[in-house]
Amino acid sequence: MDVRIKAVEAVGIRKLFPVSTPGVIRRARKFVKAVDKISFTIDQGETLGLAGESGCGKTTTAKLLLRLHSLTEGKIYFDGKDISALKGNDLKTFRRHTQMVFQDPYESLNPRFTIKETLEEPLIIHQIGNKKERSDLINEIIKEVGLDVSVSFLDRYPHQLSGGQRQRVAIARALVLRPKFLIADEPVSMLDLSIRAGILKLLQKMIEKKNIAGLCISHDLSLLRYLCQRTAIMYLGHFVEIGPSEEIIKKRYHPYTDALLDAVPTTDPGQSFSTDKIIGGAPDATDIPTGCRFSTRCIKKGKRCEQEVPKPIEVQPGHFVECHLYE
Ligand code: ATP
Repeated sequence: MDVRIKAVEAVGIRKLFPVSTPGVIRRARKFVKAVDKISFTIDQGETLGLAGESGCGKTTTAKLLLRLHSLTEGKIYFDGKDISALKGNDLKTFRRHTQMVFQDPYESLNPRFTIKETLEEPLIIHQIGNKKERSDLINEIIKEVGLDVSVSFLDRYPHQLSGGQRQRVAIARALVLRPKFLIADEPVSMLDLSIRAGILKLLQKMIEKKNIAGLCISHDLSLLRYLCQRTAIMYLGHFVEIGPSEEIIKKRYHPYTDALLDAVPTTDPGQSFSTDKIIGGAPDATDIPTGCRFSTRCIKKGKRCEQEVPKPIEVQPGHFVECHLYE
């Protein structure tokens, strides 16, 4: 029997950032709609992928889930508990259970800490174990991430490691606290092509073995297909499609997903990628188009698209698309 246990639930979450314009009175202020009413769940042992072009709100979503940003609207539940307004010790306990692996392992590790100190610090902060117990936990996690447990290795500093080893240490640091939820933000984009597969396999193995919930952010849909059971496609702060990763990629239901899959990155600052399946660059996130938010760039748009907001349509079981083409 397939038993699914909901680990994370976001309900209508929203994050608006005020734009400070000199001379504009408070009431007339504009807001960047970085995350605009999204809802989703992630089960234990499941990884949800999050894709979309630069500036669509992926990192802000991650920061809301980690409680690094406050919510403007909506609720977040973690293991069934509302964590939207946690404070003090409750927030500290929640933080122990939610960890992040960053894009650049060099920046995320303290250059003055040895590997042992890097892994011991979170255990000390959260008052876990005595010296011997902490040392056992460190050896255990170091082995699990495929690194060497010798004293000479644990005494090295980040600059003495290869890029792949550094990212393994960053993963070990995130996992040493035995989190229930792990966010990986572009976890391999700074690494050599030759070592990316190894790191992805490790992340996949750890999430499955430890039965944690995962969220993986990436521009690369083939990476998400490999690592994530389901993927959400984000456009201007909102999910326009969410469903099984394999189906998202094969069926290309939403015109934006179709464009993303054909995208070639460009150096043009006005446009983050180039394909003939999309018109122009992304609109200003302070001024979301009326009707379907993708209508200004959609090559398949009809009259209705500029006037009516599309509803989520279940095109296949568990696969939802917000596009008038399917209504
Ligand atoms: P990238 O792929 O480039 O990391 P992203 O999809 O993660 O982009 P976010 O970083 O979440 O996008 O940004 C979403 C929108 O919110 C952007 O318009 C960004 O400029 C804006 N934004 C993000 N953080 C802030 C902030 N602290 N203050 C004001 N605006 C912000």
